[in-house]
Amino acid sequence: MIVMKFGGTSVGTTESIDGVAKIVAAAVERQAGGAEGEADQSGESPGVLVVVSAMGGVTNTLIDAAQAAAAGDETPYRDARSQLLVRHQVVAGQLIEDGVERAGLGRLFDNRLREFERLCRSITVLGELTQRGLDVVSGVGERLSAPLLAAVLRANGVNSQFVDAGELIITDDQFGNANPLMEATPARCRDRLLPMMQSGVVPVVTGFVGATEKGVPTTLGRGGSDYSAAILGAALDADEIQIWTDVDGVMTADPRIVETAQSMEELSYEEVAELAYYGAKVLHPKTVTPAVESKIPLRVLNTFNPSHPGTRIVEKTHQLHHGVKAITAVRELRLITVAGRGMIGVPGIAARTFDAVARQRANVLMISQGSSEQSICFVVPEAEGDAVVGALKVEFARELAQNMIEEISHQPDIVIVAVIGAGMKGTPGIAARVFNALGERNINVIAIAQGSSEANISLVVLQTEADEALRAIHDTFELGNGAD
Ligand code: ASP
Ligand code: MG
Repeated sequence: MIVMKFGGTSVGTTESIDGVAKIVAAAVERQAGGAEGEADQSGESPGVLVVVSAMGGVTNTLIDAAQAAAAGDETPYRDARSQLLVRHQVVAGQLIEDGVERAGLGRLFDNRLREFERLCRSITVLGELTQRGLDVVSGVGERLSAPLLAAVLRANGVNSQFVDAGELIITDDQFGNANPLMEATPARCRDRLLPMMQSGVVPVVTGFVGATEKGVPTTLGRGGSDYSAAILGAALDADEIQIWTDVDGVMTADPRIVETAQSMEELSYEEVAELAYYGAKVLHPKTVTPAVESKIPLRVLNTFNPSHPGTRIVEKTHQLHHGVKAITAVRELRLITVAGRGMIGVPGIAARTFDAVARQRANVLMISQGSSEQSICFVVPEAEGDAVVGALKVEFARELAQNMIEEISHQPDIVIVAVIGAGMKGTPGIAARVFNALGERNINVIAIAQGSSEANISLVVLQTEADEALRAIHDTFELGNGAD
């Protein structure tokens, strides 16, 4: 069986929802054909499970309205209620002919949105928005889009039924960023979903939301529908988890910067995690965890170009000779350097440095220390730069006064360029090729680091040279020439 997750843009308009229905209908047919034919040889069980996000932009509208309500402004939630009602009804009106079905949906939309309005009213009365309250409000979008998609599927001849993930994904009570309880969840999913699927029903499950053991609504964090899909896929031991989005899979580089960027056929879990860490808008590592643990392949596909095979993400890929698969960049960063001869052989400087950084709750994206031990440099987001430098000056006040540490310097407007590929492990010469490519174009490399996983090399360059650096490396490894 396969899990098919459709994101906000995939269900953003009447046309795209119509497209989604066709994609699901075709998959259902293929799965059914496979079940009759070679089910025994392939060992794959039939069935399709759909997970859906809120219509594009809806979650933001809901959250903004609730926040305004807490601040005493009631206009946004009133507007949101009527806007969202119309937006969902228009789709139903255009894609569902059956009057009874349409009327039922209309009542459902109306009830959910009335409840949303009541909630916002009480938020205004209280003058306070708790994370728990926000989870109820922000999950409303999926609780509208999933019944809508289920009905559209039925209108397309697919036997389909809406299921609220509050019945399936049991989480802790970390509202806004809840964690699924992996004892309770799989059993619930199997008990509720397998009988449905065995009788030929396609469940359409709300992404993003869950509930505590006591039934209090929670959410899995922004963008959490991917996570929902992976949790459900793992619980049901799916053959593949498909993430349907608006691009042809995972690209070798950002196509807005590197014109020749193309989508990759295959990536490993490790590579996709590195890409996400370095800012590429791909699957969040947390999202992928349930799939990785169960070794279930993922596939990123394009709702707007469904015949494209997309990118398959698996445990191990066939390694390529050069090993570089993709490049990405993290921007708006600051490089901070703690330097001085007094640091040589003195234990604890690094620990104190990063303690001070951690106290500012700053996220360190890269660290590098030369073996001369005369300096440590690391990269933090620009927004946290001042606070981190301030904290270090306090932490090392004595060492600075005694000149054991000569300076705590910082450089704004830098970018980390990350070169990613699991095949770089043990392949000599890759770093040299990267630096040659940059050297030829006179691009200065300010710092470098390679994780011991060897699945990435990251370099710090000036913001003004970052795009050129990306293009240079992409060219050198011929990532745009069908090399993958
Ligand atoms: N609708 C939720 C959000 O916008 C979840 C998702 O789209 O994955 O964050
Ligand atoms: Mg999304």
